[in-house]
Amino acid sequence: MRGCGRAYPTRILACLQEIRSFESTGVGHGGKLRLMLYSSHRLVSRAGWRWPHFRPDELACRCGGRGCRGAYWHDADFLDALEALRAEMGRPLRINSGHRCAIWNAVVGGVPNSQHRRIAVDIAFGKHDRRAMVDAAERLGFTGIGIARSFLHLDRRETPARWTYPGTEDLS
Ligand SMILES: [Zn+2]
Repeated sequence: MRGCGRAYPTRILACLQEIRSFESTGVGHGGKLRLMLYSSHRLVSRAGWRWPHFRPDELACRCGGRGCRGAYWHDADFLDALEALRAEMGRPLRINSGHRCAIWNAVVGGVPNSQHRRIAVDIAFGKHDRRAMVDAAERLGFTGIGIARSFLHLDRRETPARWTYPGTEDLS
């Protein structure tokens, strides 16, 4: 679809029209778009899914029906980077938070223009080496990197940013 191959923010603005059209029709262009908002992760076709270590429900909104039906923001480039990070780390990545609908984003205290309103992930550090995960994420094209004590926030924003959450030691 026209517009979807362009860099931010044009890509987002162009695709919002398609997203609106998608929401009104409930039809997903055959799953061929690289960027698309699904009203529910259950609508994502398994046929075109090529990221073996992740599922749409892991990346979908977890408001439990308060604001949406498990909305899912599909971004193939984001998934490619996430899958590459999984390969690099060699063990499962547990997603604490992915896409958030407006209601859920407010409930969990996200800023109104949070990258989670599109797609961002908070990955539990668990037993992973924190510095190794941060370094790999940066190398693999994540540009928004937020380091917390127990999780790593990752997104692919236009202007790179890196921060530590309060109470977290700086790894850099
Ligand atoms: Zn929701």
